[in-house]
Amino acid sequence: MLAISALAKLIGLPTSDGTAQGARLQTRSRPGDPGWPAEESWEALNRAVGGRLIKVQSPLATCLRDGSSAECEQLFKSLKNPYFLGDDVALTQSLGWVDAWTSSPSVFAVAARSAADVVATVNFARTHRLRLLVKGGGHSYQGTSNAPDSLLIWTRGMNAITLHDAFVGAGCAGHNDPQPAVSIEPGAIWGQVYQAVTTRAGRYVQGGGCLTVGVAGLVQSGGFGSFSKAYGTAAASLLEAEVVTADGGLRTVNACSNPDLFWALKGGGGGSLGVVTRLTLRTHALPHFFGATVLSIKATSDAAFRRLIGRIVGFYAEALFNPNWGEQIGFRPDNVLVVAMVHQGLSQQQAEAIWRPFLDWVAGATGDYTLLSGPLMLSVPAGDFWNPAVLGNLPGVVVTDPRQGASPANIYYAANVGEAGQVLHAYRSLWLPASLLRHEQQGGFADALFAASRHWSVTLHVNKGLAGAGAEAIAAAKETATNPVMLEAFALLISAAQGAPAYPGIRGHEPNLASAHRQVGAVRSAVGEIERLLSQRGSYLAESDFFETAWQQAFWGSNYPRLLAVKDKYDPDGLFIVHHGVGSERWSADGFTRLGT
Ligand SMILES: Cc1cc2nc3c(=O)[nH]c(=O)nc-3n(C[C@H](O)[C@H](O)[C@H](O)COP(=O)(O)OP(=O)(O)OC[C@H]3O[C@@H](n4cnc5c(N)ncnc54)[C@H](O)[C@@H]3O)c2cc1C
Repeated sequence: MLAISALAKLIGLPTSDGTAQGARLQTRSRPGDPGWPAEESWEALNRAVGGRLIKVQSPLATCLRDGSSAECEQLFKSLKNPYFLGDDVALTQSLGWVDAWTSSPSVFAVAARSAADVVATVNFARTHRLRLLVKGGGHSYQGTSNAPDSLLIWTRGMNAITLHDAFVGAGCAGHNDPQPAVSIEPGAIWGQVYQAVTTRAGRYVQGGGCLTVGVAGLVQSGGFGSFSKAYGTAAASLLEAEVVTADGGLRTVNACSNPDLFWALKGGGGGSLGVVTRLTLRTHALPHFFGATVLSIKATSDAAFRRLIGRIVGFYAEALFNPNWGEQIGFRPDNVLVVAMVHQGLSQQQAEAIWRPFLDWVAGATGDYTLLSGPLMLSVPAGDFWNPAVLGNLPGVVVTDPRQGASPANIYYAANVGEAGQVLHAYRSLWLPASLLRHEQQGGFADALFAASRHWSVTLHVNKGLAGAGAEAIAAAKETATNPVMLEAFALLISAAQGAPAYPGIRGHEPNLASAHRQVGAVRSAVGEIERLLSQRGSYLAESDFFETAWQQAFWGSNYPRLLAVKDKYDPDGLFIVHHGVGSERWSADGFTRLGT
């Protein structure tokens, strides 16, 4: 039988002499290295986590052997299902990004069920000097929840959701009033949360737009949802988190305990500060209605398209730049304007009356414009907005997980299908200051949008910037780590290009490199047309370019030094390193070697 201290070393618990902390880490071990844990160490970890250690096998291995087999063809169909992707320990929502990363399974993963599983895994990784990663919803565009030769903490099975009528954070009694809230385990996805909080409990919680994004990843990103202009960012809604830090400590953090780490978790980026094992978010009363307005208009000439852009910019500034409206207005190279907006607090008649002047203007410009789709305007009682039974009856809005035996609650927006299993080719985002909406600036802004659309499609995500939001939402967002330029921004401009599911080395399913390389130039040129209007640049870390150069400034602006100080306090040896995460500038791109001394 092993002595307790030897067993503690095997599974990475700190020993009485503190040797598990080790000297400052310079390199991490890969399989085959002398430092890679022996079989009996993995067995000890497996026992410590209740048998939930998985030797990871990717389903793509079958395709790498034979890309034309029936099994492989079926797999590529399944890669279009976000639930299939999310339920496989080896996969991620994006399969990669050309010239940036390729989705690669870890060697081992712990399918965590409790904070104790996470503590044991963190201690093991630290002691054995392993590359440690965390995956929740698996939606990182930057590929920060997968890495070869790593150990993964997979939180998919930790998805409990508990509502509170009167939540007070630990140690906050007497400081904070009790308030309605919801506690969520980190592997839950937003569709599950909205169904628990809105459909079943009649409350609102600020999360993300996409129903299959993970809760812990989105909150740590900052987190914008369709109605962020009304309710702010998901990070700003955080009241308390439970987190396992690099020393293996399980900490409860909130405004009263470990406030520095609490602040950093609110927008400081996932995978850099510790492993979040529970989040408690503020909830709100529901408005009467949520709704959507969808239409697309094709202009018959470039000149007519430029006029249409000018009109929609002016109309947005006059009628939609307020907490009622969110989501997207897009401008395509084929002279098509695409409106896919949502609203809160407005009946269908109110929404129709708001859009009437714009639609009359379009109708009055005889011969210039054709309505390609819509206008479709709809308001539903807010409690039904995420109800699968209601959404399923609206043609083309959601898709239900087609797997046999899947829950009918497993729905995803049809608009997100293109992103399931995608390979990213190019991606840029920019926060746009509300000053662009001033009357005297609208012309130059419309010119720039038109010029951008000559290169590639660009889309204004008007819910992903808090200018025009309510005072309470802005005040709460000021207390987060997100780049403060977001507070002055009326929208996040996104331009992106991607290909269908593909994987290097799979015959018939290789990424299209030539098309990707062409699109990089087009996207850069498109965004460049807008960038030249701006005096300072900010970009949203969760939806940004993998190749962003000044990423510390772009993602966090003046908050970066404070964020780095929190990182140094809670993770001085860099156990948690992800691409363009806080402190990652000190590590090699693969996260295995500390740079310098
Ligand atoms: C289709 C799609 C739609 C999107 N829509 C939106 C949107 O509407 N609004 C928006 O703001 N963003 C959106 N995003 C971006 C998304 O919010 C971020 O990519 C987010 O980080 C994803 O979280 P995840 O848990 O799904 O991903 P993961 O890839 O699992 O995690 C993302 C990062 O967080 C870390 N992480 C995950 N869980 C934990 C944990 N428990 N503790 C510590 N770190 C953890 C991971 O290590 C990784 O670095 C979208 C992305 C996609 C692909």
